[in-house]
Amino acid sequence: MVTIRGVSKAYGPNVVLRDIDLTVNKSEVVCLIGPSGSGKSTLLRCINFLEVYDRGEIRIEGQLVGYSDTTPRRRLSNAELRGLRRNVGMVFQQFNLWPHMTALENVAEALVQVRGMDKGAAADRARQMLARVGLADKADSYPSRLSGGQQQRVAIARVIAMEPHLMLFDEPTSALDPELVGEVLQVMRDLAADGMTMVVVTHEMGFAANVADRVAFLDRGRIAAFGPPREVFHESPDPRLTQFLQTYH
Ligand code: ATP
Ligand code: MG
Repeated sequence: MVTIRGVSKAYGPNVVLRDIDLTVNKSEVVCLIGPSGSGKSTLLRCINFLEVYDRGEIRIEGQLVGYSDTTPRRRLSNAELRGLRRNVGMVFQQFNLWPHMTALENVAEALVQVRGMDKGAAADRARQMLARVGLADKADSYPSRLSGGQQQRVAIARVIAMEPHLMLFDEPTSALDPELVGEVLQVMRDLAADGMTMVVVTHEMGFAANVADRVAFLDRGRIAAFGPPREVFHESPDPRLTQFLQTYH
């Protein structure tokens, strides 16, 4: 589903990704963990070309990300990028809901604007998606009346309404009060169980241990450990990983 080969990126003199190789198979959940500044968000953003990578290649479902597959190094146009991103959903730490729209309208809006659905069909679909994240009864609430966990679940409903083949999560629970983290992680667990392909940057080690098929530990722009959670959490010899994990216990 996603193939990353030899990807490097620098901001000026600051090399933030070094020769990254990573594959994500269909229906797999891969968690990216690592210290602050290790390059997790940058790698995630490179996957749908919100960031330009300098070297290597990234492919989603075989298609080269950001560049033409036939003309070497020709950048994709904005229209081509939109096509590429159609199948990729992204969930951020901040929920970014429209404050002047209800939960239902937040989910339905893109279906009308981007997918060209008529309003009635979009509303029906939005209602189904809200039910899927356990918010059937909040359809008519405005974001200001929802808890952070509920707002993030609306944001997830908005993404899954677009039927992405791949979902990218960048610390989706980091902005939440601790007691609201669980409900968002449960929605993500359900998505994983339904076969969604997911790349999740997270500091929730319990989630990574229980839900991820494989975990990648990023350290200073390199993948220092990669494998099933059991191996990465208990059998990796990397001293910086051991040190990192100690800070989360
Ligand atoms: P955190 O856990 O704090 O979110 P991270 O692992 O997601 O960290 P990144 O945000 O990917 O780390 O940042 C990696 C490095 O790239 C850092 O040194 C950061 O300062 C730098 N960086 C990120 N974005 C930019 C930017 N737009 N311009 C310049 N430097 C950047
Ligand atoms: Mg980050």
